[in-house]
Amino acid sequence: MTEALSAELSAKQIDKIAHENNKLHKRLCRLVGQAIGDFNMIEDGDKVMVCLSGGKDSYALLDILMTLRERAPIHFDIVAVNLDQKQPGFPADVLPGYLSKLGIPFHIENQDTYSIVKRLIPEGKTTCSLCSRLRRGILYRVADELGCNKIALGHHRDDILETFFLNMFFGGKLKGMPAKLVSDDGKHMVIRPMAYVKEEDTARYAEVKQFPIIPCDLCGSQENLQRKQIKNLMREWEKKHPGRVENIFSALSTVVPSHLMDRSLFGFIDIKADGVANPNGDIAFDEEPCSTPETNTISLQRR
Ligand code: SF4
Repeated sequence: MTEALSAELSAKQIDKIAHENNKLHKRLCRLVGQAIGDFNMIEDGDKVMVCLSGGKDSYALLDILMTLRERAPIHFDIVAVNLDQKQPGFPADVLPGYLSKLGIPFHIENQDTYSIVKRLIPEGKTTCSLCSRLRRGILYRVADELGCNKIALGHHRDDILETFFLNMFFGGKLKGMPAKLVSDDGKHMVIRPMAYVKEEDTARYAEVKQFPIIPCDLCGSQENLQRKQIKNLMREWEKKHPGRVENIFSALSTVVPSHLMDRSLFGFIDIKADGVANPNGDIAFDEEPCSTPETNTISLQRR
């Protein structure tokens, strides 16, 4: 291969990569914008506290929110907040350095929750539940002090699905992770603008933008085994049955209470046949899902 050709090829490759990166950025902006719109997450005059852990997802959230803020027809403020939990080896200078360069208001809250958790939880037991509870309380207080009415978290589509399966498989509940909710103290709105974004997109975006990622295992806590199982299951589905995970996610926003069993969601007790046909009503016996054209033909012939 001539030098000129190799130079031309690499220029083409560079163009292609730049094009792909641009598409990724546009996709993230579109999906985050869509989630914000669908759930009315951010309104004119809001002050949004963006929780930054130093992981890929929260960096991506902050970055995309900053882009959207420039384009938005409304005005809202952003304050980035990191809680330094004093885990051993936490590189305390990374986030202040990054945020200063971005030129946005930020606050680093120093609270040694690490020691509290280590003191209260016996060795070998999982520490995440107490740690999250402590963190949540601190973040609500900080939001108050900073005058923020919205608290934005970086959870994405896959976090929501994992939580959904965890609740279903291990908790006996049909329950995911809300895109928008009122905080436990009743004072703030917690929002998840990345709710429609796939984890693989945030991972690639973090590489493209070269975010200074802070490892998340500094506390020494083992990854939750059940969550790990769910992650593997979803990864397997994605490989073997492309589109399945997407379908499950879309099912979360297409719920039919009359076809589930929760009596508090649907008045099964009081329904009566009133003799009035409903063209939009359901057929009495649901068709086989995914019936193939062949089976359709056979059933038509038999009739
Ligand atoms: S992984 Fe560590 S820092 Fe994260 S919630 Fe669990 S205990 Fe806390």
